[in-house]
Amino acid sequence: MAMLDPLPLAQALMRCPSVTPADAGALGVLEDALQPLGFACHRLIFTEPDSEPVDNLYARIGTRAPLFCFAGHTDVVPPGDAKAWRSAPFDAEVRHGVLYGRGAADMKTAIAAFVVATARHLAKGDLKGSIGLIITGDEEGEAINGTRKILDWMTEKGERADHCIVGEPTSVAAAGDTLKIGRRGSMTVRVTVKGTQGHVAYPNRANNPIPALAALVTKLANLPLDQGTGHFDPSTLAFTTVDVGNPASNVIPAEARATFNIRFNDLHTPDSLMAFLNAEAAAVAKQTGCEITLTNNVSGVAFLTTPGAFTDLVAKTVEGATGRRPEFSTSGGTSDARFIKDHCPVVELGLPGTTMHKTDECVLVSDIQKLTDIYAALLDAYFANPPG
Ligand SMILES: [Zn+2]
Repeated sequence: MAMLDPLPLAQALMRCPSVTPADAGALGVLEDALQPLGFACHRLIFTEPDSEPVDNLYARIGTRAPLFCFAGHTDVVPPGDAKAWRSAPFDAEVRHGVLYGRGAADMKTAIAAFVVATARHLAKGDLKGSIGLIITGDEEGEAINGTRKILDWMTEKGERADHCIVGEPTSVAAAGDTLKIGRRGSMTVRVTVKGTQGHVAYPNRANNPIPALAALVTKLANLPLDQGTGHFDPSTLAFTTVDVGNPASNVIPAEARATFNIRFNDLHTPDSLMAFLNAEAAAVAKQTGCEITLTNNVSGVAFLTTPGAFTDLVAKTVEGATGRRPEFSTSGGTSDARFIKDHCPVVELGLPGTTMHKTDECVLVSDIQKLTDIYAALLDAYFANPPG
């Protein structure tokens, strides 16, 4: 039976309360939709010593190249206070043409749209290549037992994706108005400033780390990191906390700490940023006599899928389906595209994301249909003339 409407599948997926790392039946719903279409499904359970096991799915139809992949996640963020929602977060209720519920935008609907688009493409005749789905249950969590490990598994099995679309909610006002061809990197840095503890009445016998930290905070918060590039906004640095935690009003503390996050474009790497930051810290340390150490944690490096044959094909297809040329963006947070970019060209294209992670998360049902049309047209165009 040809699946023509993505809404029932989207609702079935949304009715599984798959808050990371729970699967709650979501991948089973997906397998039940893919197997009748002829997909071979592989459930992949990954785990790490200090984390709960996570269920993932890789499904493929066809044996020939090229392999066009769609990537996404069935896990969702928690609904928060369920009573604050106008309908229960896992009911997937449609009211006046709008589908409400957790995962409506981010991103169970896009998965349903892609499955139905595939069904439509397959109904047209012989598949001139292969279609793969890389679906994780660990995107909203630590992302250590998800896409990266599926990709490793694929490499081991000799499965090489040629191009990939990620169904994250990239659009703004209407499905297809914006696609992402890259993402900024994200790095969190923790600052520790060590001075010498002492009595407030004798500050000359102490070395107060607080003015040193304040000087460094002021310096870093006001330094432009760059002016942006052709495809990226300027990099940003934002402090998230300053901590001294000293309950005594008569003691100069020995230590002060702070944390900041940098969202950086493709002019920087974590190493180049740390070299720059360490030099700034060393200058303040020299002036103040305090010891300053920086430690970092990288969540993702900046990447760009250079505009070319694949991005052109996607943009032209979207324009054909919507009547509007999509905007190329690199804004927003990180996504699993940061792992896929090491394997093949990747573009992110999904629904409007303005309500993602919010109470009453929702999308227009007509936007889900539109995204399905876009994905179906993309499969037609891709296999008619695969980009090199
Ligand atoms: Zn997402």
